[in-house]
Amino acid sequence: MNQKISCLCDNSFSVEFPGEIDLDQRPEYLNEIMDGSFMNYTCPSCGKKHKPEFSLILLWPSRKIRFEILPELERGEFYRRKKDPPGTETLIGYPEMADRLALIRDGLEPAVVEALKYYLLLKAEENYPDSDISVWYQAKGPESIEFHLHGIREGEVAVSRVPLAVYEKTLEDFHKHPRGEIYRSLRYRSYLSVQNMIHPEGLK
Ligand SMILES: [Zn+2]
Repeated sequence: MNQKISCLCDNSFSVEFPGEIDLDQRPEYLNEIMDGSFMNYTCPSCGKKHKPEFSLILLWPSRKIRFEILPELERGEFYRRKKDPPGTETLIGYPEMADRLALIRDGLEPAVVEALKYYLLLKAEENYPDSDISVWYQAKGPESIEFHLHGIREGEVAVSRVPLAVYEKTLEDFHKHPRGEIYRSLRYRSYLSVQNMIHPEGLK
């Protein structure tokens, strides 16, 4: 699939972009998504680096996964659209794609991790009500799950560790009540994300 990139230098160039990728067949994509080098392009005229977000179907058959990845710019459109592609989960923006793939790779339950993110955000917003904070999954250690909070102070990342015991307890609760209030609020149609709890109602 050909996509066009317009550069600030007034040059535009077209790039080859796979509309669909399969992580079982091309596991190298997983590393590229994680380290941010996935689909980076260089303007042939001025050498500027571009990291565009194009829509993407991401398959990971061994994990029974079929995601549609939408560009962050299409977030509003997603909330307004009437129909979702069948059998497909939605993620919005490449950072969210990297985040979700990392936690699935680490064997964690996405709904539970998104719920933990929400609790962390609530606490952070209580302490820093004027900041625009986002929270990201970082890693699973032997005793805790590490999250990174962005936006508390400019240019700084705050690290928050949630004990694995708290994760396990929340997971147990999720298995008992998968349709509990928090899990219903975290999901908007095909889209499970803490973003659904913090996004302005006006978008929906
Ligand atoms: Zn350029």
